[in-house]
Amino acid sequence: MQDIESLSDERRVELLAKHYKAILELLGEDPSREGLLKTPCRAARAMLALTAGYRQSPEEILRSALFKEEYGSRGQIVVARDIEFYSFCEHHILPFFGKVHIGYIPTGYVTGLSKLARLVDAFARRLQLQERLTLEICEALQKTLAPEGAIVMMESRHLCMQMRGVEKQGTVTTTCSYTGVFEDIARREEFFSMLARR
Ligand SMILES: [Zn+2]
Repeated sequence: MQDIESLSDERRVELLAKHYKAILELLGEDPSREGLLKTPCRAARAMLALTAGYRQSPEEILRSALFKEEYGSRGQIVVARDIEFYSFCEHHILPFFGKVHIGYIPTGYVTGLSKLARLVDAFARRLQLQERLTLEICEALQKTLAPEGAIVMMESRHLCMQMRGVEKQGTVTTTCSYTGVFEDIARREEFFSMLARR
């Protein structure tokens, strides 16, 4: 088999579609009935798009729009909250989704909100664990912006829990990662209180 990384998107869709067709058969469906004729191909395209993070460089996304902060932040927290994300849990390949809140204290460079959203997508569009996703976003911010500290809080709902009835409907899982000055609980609390002010 050809090296996976060198496959074109079209070829990937074609190969994935064959597997989706086999899955439909194994589930007891008839992939030749009209409603399902194009399903393997559609599912393949959707899955490829929703895992596009594997083919992106999160740090490059951030570096593509760094702005010099002329006045310095004077220790103030820059907050971007309610960034929507959709990911797949790596244990069941079922969605988990919710909101990410990001805070950092710039030492010289800031980035745009749209880049933060793209950074989140680049990590979320892979098979993930919520804990790892939170940590990876935080580490990329620290590495690329070199802030005094970065903090990432994620609130999400896991369909693998909810659809299978393991958890009650609407349970929200919260994770938090931080670096630098956010090791100090007082700085973390400052961030949380900024989030609470809606
Ligand atoms: Zn799961």
